[in-house]
Amino acid sequence: PSTLRENKVEIPDTKWSDIGGLEETKRELQEMVRYPIEHRGLFEKFGMQASRGVLFYGPPGCGKTLMAKAIANECGANFISVKGPELLNMWFGGSEANVRELFEKARAASPCILFFDEVDSIAKARGGGGAGGSSDTSDRVINQILSEIDGIGGGKTLFIIGATNRPDILDPGLMRPGRLDQLIYIPLPDHASREAIFKAALRKSPIQEGLTFGKLADVTEGFSGADITEICQRAAKFAIKDSIVSGIATDRRVENKEITQDEADGMPDPV
Ligand code: ATP
Repeated sequence: PSTLRENKVEIPDTKWSDIGGLEETKRELQEMVRYPIEHRGLFEKFGMQASRGVLFYGPPGCGKTLMAKAIANECGANFISVKGPELLNMWFGGSEANVRELFEKARAASPCILFFDEVDSIAKARGGGGAGGSSDTSDRVINQILSEIDGIGGGKTLFIIGATNRPDILDPGLMRPGRLDQLIYIPLPDHASREAIFKAALRKSPIQEGLTFGKLADVTEGFSGADITEICQRAAKFAIKDSIVSGIATDRRVENKEITQDEADGMPDPV
């Protein structure tokens, strides 16, 4: 059974403002992805082949998926996300037809961005051998994907974004001109970006007086965007629990009953 059919096709609701930092990358992406999608006619007029795809690379949890979704949102394009390993598993249960089916689905949803997360798991350099080297299966999957990318055209607007933490082990064929030929590095966030990520993650939460996003950025050097989001979620959970416990304590006092610390500790985690 193909898991692909379950992959949702929809315009994501991720906005640029949900992504902290990476301002330069956001600008770069607009030109690379938006122009070919929105001004296809101009490319044709100038006899230019619009780019078919980009490759995002960089450490995990720094916004590759978010970026891909935000650009789809901005262009009003549909978005299909497929994880590399998922595609391989599918292969074992099916045939080359699965990859064709995926591209068919994307073309039908045009304009569409097809996002291959962990693309290195299928696109390891072919015939390289070595630990975790290529197998017949992944060779055939990647060959099929490459030929589908080469076949993009015919008035359908389909844009491919690949994401990887390991560009060094990728099949160079994937990055040949006309395929994922633009590389975009998405780094660990710097100080200003960490500030922006805290701000984005806490935009709906009240924060302690005197605490600034700058101070939070000071103490989180080396943290990824995903780490920072996790910190904010945990802090919010504690704060929610605190306010529930103190709320109950207030109610009890109204009824002239005191709440003990043991009782408070025993209260369930609210989230
Ligand atoms: P992976 O390589 O693990 O797939 P990724 O680079 O695709 O990681 P995302 O999935 O985009 O990372 O980010 C994971 C989560 O971390 C996001 O859902 C978001 O909550 C948070 N996050 C990461 N980077 C940022 C950022 N720049 N701004 C705001 N949130 C971020």
